[in-house]
Amino acid sequence: MDITVDQDKCIGCGACEKICPAVFNIDETIGKSVVVDPEACEFAGCCEAAEENCPEHAIKIIE
Ligand code: SF4
Repeated sequence: MDITVDQDKCIGCGACEKICPAVFNIDETIGKSVVVDPEACEFAGCCEAAEENCPEHAIKIIE
C-alpha cells in the first residue's frame, strides 16, 4: 500500500494530520501535507478516514 498527497490540490487545512498523525504532517515551510510514513497506513487504520475527509480530495491510497 502506498499513499500520496497531491501537492497541487492540498490547501494545508490539517485535517489529515489531525485524523492520522502517524502518517501525515503539515510541512510548515510549504504549508501543505506531506506523507511522513506511508508504511504506518498498514497498522494505523486511519488512512482511509483521512482520504475520505480531505476536502480537496488530495489524498490517494494505492493498494
Ligand atoms: S486534508 Fe487534504 S487538503 Fe487538508 S492538509 Fe490534508 S491533504 Fe491537504
